[in-house]
Amino acid sequence: MTNTRACNICNKSLNNKRLDSKTCSSSCRSKLFRLNQTQSVLVKFRISSEAYTDLTIKAFFAGQSISDHIVQLVVKQ
Ligand SMILES: [Zn+2]
Repeated sequence: MTNTRACNICNKSLNNKRLDSKTCSSSCRSKLFRLNQTQSVLVKFRISSEAYTDLTIKAFFAGQSISDHIVQLVVKQ
């Protein structure tokens, strides 16, 4: 059985690496990590200025940015 393992990022041989390693170096590992992160998209929407002020205050007291706060309100898991 031939060993053909290669780095998932740069395709460098992984023959001298641990069997469970997927990348050749820590920089390739962080690139792979970033690739595996959830992709985000920009969403624009319109709300009243009263609602915006209310959200800004709630985000402030939650210690979040307004966009993080809105995401949390919308994406309830
Ligand atoms: Zn690599």
